[in-house]
Amino acid sequence: MGGMKTAGASAFDALVATEAGPAREAGIDALIAQMTLKEKVAQLTGSQGLFDLAIMPFRYNYKPFTAGANRRLGIPPLRFTDGPRGVALHHSTCFPVPMARGATFDVELEERVGEAMGVEARAQGADLLGSVCINLLRHPGWGRAQETFGEDPHHLGEMGVAQVRGLQRHVMACVKHFACNSIEESRFKVDVRVDERTLREVYLPHFKKCIDAGAACVMSAYNQVNGEWCGHHAELQRKILRDEWGFDGYVISDFVFCVRDGVAGIEGGLDVEMPFPWRYGRRLRKRVERGEVSEALIDGAVRNVLRQKLRFAPLEPATGVGRARVACGEHVELAREVARKSIVLLKNESDVLPLDVTQLRRVAVLGPLADVPNIGDRGSSRVRPPRVVTALQGIKGVVGDRVEVHSDRGGNLARARKLAREADVVVLVVGLGAVEEGEYIPFPRMGGDRMDLDLPRAQRELIEAVAEENSRCAVVLEGGSAITVRSWVDRVPALLMAWYPGMEGGRAIAEILFGAVSPSGKLPLTFPRSGEQEVPFDKTASRVTYGYDHGYRHFDRQGLEPEFPFGFGLSYTRYAYDELAVRTASLGAEDTLRIEVRVTNAGEWAGEEVAQLYIGFDDSVIQRAPRELKGFQRVRLDPGESRQLHFELPVSELAHYDAAAQGWCVEPMTYGLYVGGSSDPSDLLASSFRIATD
Ligand code: BGC
Repeated sequence: MGGMKTAGASAFDALVATEAGPAREAGIDALIAQMTLKEKVAQLTGSQGLFDLAIMPFRYNYKPFTAGANRRLGIPPLRFTDGPRGVALHHSTCFPVPMARGATFDVELEERVGEAMGVEARAQGADLLGSVCINLLRHPGWGRAQETFGEDPHHLGEMGVAQVRGLQRHVMACVKHFACNSIEESRFKVDVRVDERTLREVYLPHFKKCIDAGAACVMSAYNQVNGEWCGHHAELQRKILRDEWGFDGYVISDFVFCVRDGVAGIEGGLDVEMPFPWRYGRRLRKRVERGEVSEALIDGAVRNVLRQKLRFAPLEPATGVGRARVACGEHVELAREVARKSIVLLKNESDVLPLDVTQLRRVAVLGPLADVPNIGDRGSSRVRPPRVVTALQGIKGVVGDRVEVHSDRGGNLARARKLAREADVVVLVVGLGAVEEGEYIPFPRMGGDRMDLDLPRAQRELIEAVAEENSRCAVVLEGGSAITVRSWVDRVPALLMAWYPGMEGGRAIAEILFGAVSPSGKLPLTFPRSGEQEVPFDKTASRVTYGYDHGYRHFDRQGLEPEFPFGFGLSYTRYAYDELAVRTASLGAEDTLRIEVRVTNAGEWAGEEVAQLYIGFDDSVIQRAPRELKGFQRVRLDPGESRQLHFELPVSELAHYDAAAQGWCVEPMTYGLYVGGSSDPSDLLASSFRIATD
């Protein structure tokens, strides 16, 4: 049993063998009946002591955070650690960050990443991984953008579910942060005001999908929603999560300041306070004893925790995964596959890419990020892989001794100019790092939100200087979100978004630059031309209103031209779409729409395309998004090959939330149907279909 030994078979062990269902529920009640109040509250309280707390600022996540071990009854503790770019313990595989993985639009791949992280977490003594971060990116300046998959609820839901599935073959998945957490620096105070329809349609659907997929755990958020702290929020954590969605797992607090009052936490549906007793523990016990809160509520929370401990207990001995799997060859190779599929080619004038090694004598690899491991922020999601391949190392590996490679950080512009002038081609690696964005760390000051979406000035000057010297210049951007490029992008012929590409990132960058692989990533968020095009964002806000539109919905409604639209990404080949058809004759609200389209690789390179399906609501009597993503598929095609793609879209996915009726409603009307390679109308085939009244 997880992390503890008891003499003989314990009451808990006996229950593990009971099949999930009424018998087990009765067994859980019997187990709870044997517990003292102190033991019950201990199930609900993180157990880090003073020593652990003292170490935390210096070496966060050095071992799993535990909660609720009970030797007498043989109940194992929860053993939590962080993701999501890999397992935060020791030297695990570092995958590209979720925003990069979002760019793969590849749910099968994300499930494999989840599975690998589950194996590595379990092998290092954890059984609960806080890695399914699916907060919707409302504004690209959010410091923790890198930890989520993007700006679209449908896409977030599909990617989140894939990760939950993979993880839960080995450990419990923790889906976070519930809800509306998307400003970093004011997260401990901000009150997010949001109307019910927006909340239900934009900020919650992806959480519901993960619950439907069986996620064991939800992490509450620090912020407030409509005047109530998320950790105390009965409407979110009880009414919506449990009563409406049928969640039978447990809710844990975000760490430290999430529960401000123990009674409000328990009444609001927050089951476990992490990572140490602050408002729960002895304080909560006393408040129960004083009659300030009913013991039945405590029992309910304990039941939620025990149910999942029992559900996952059999995985402990059965999987038998050892430490040798941590950062093993297979997982490192997976990290590389993800990096390859996540890099987005944003610009490629006159086909300057891919580079042909046989035509080159000298390459300059310049920029502050050319030869530094740049895998993401230093907050709770930090992963310490055994090694990281930088872009320079990757490029040297691909070209071998066939080409001279010269590198420089680019701090001295005169030197950078000279290297650029003398080279046949320049690769310029620039972007952001742990200082510019990420979970906010006050000492030394690091991370936080970006109010300015541009690159740092020195980097812009470097790009301009280098571009003046050499017209064959490919810029590789690193970062966890959108970066504005308007002031310099017209001066360079090629631009790649490589995100924080993980421990194998440098190799993947080189493979794409030199044409071993055709780029296939697509933007999971809109890249604006300037920050002014975006919805307002204030990292110091105490109160903010989240309206219905953001991201591509906002750009579409306002008729704004982004720098690069949602879903956009070039490749070395060309894809053509035709024969878009709806195969379902008559449609009612309970039906499933069957849509077909043909996609052809009309170019010369093998590659992978992400076909995207959007629905339009022009005929709606209420205001809806001009277009919404409702499906996507990644498909591999050889040159000249065509493939018929089939999308299945339940009509219920077309519904909007009717706040007055407190329910979902599918409008009988004609819907727009769009399929293609990005959200830009010029990339989409258009058709329509009708939904009849039931
Ligand atoms: C973060 C969570 C993280 C937790 C535990 C918090 O500060 O917001 O995402 O899971 O710490 O490390």
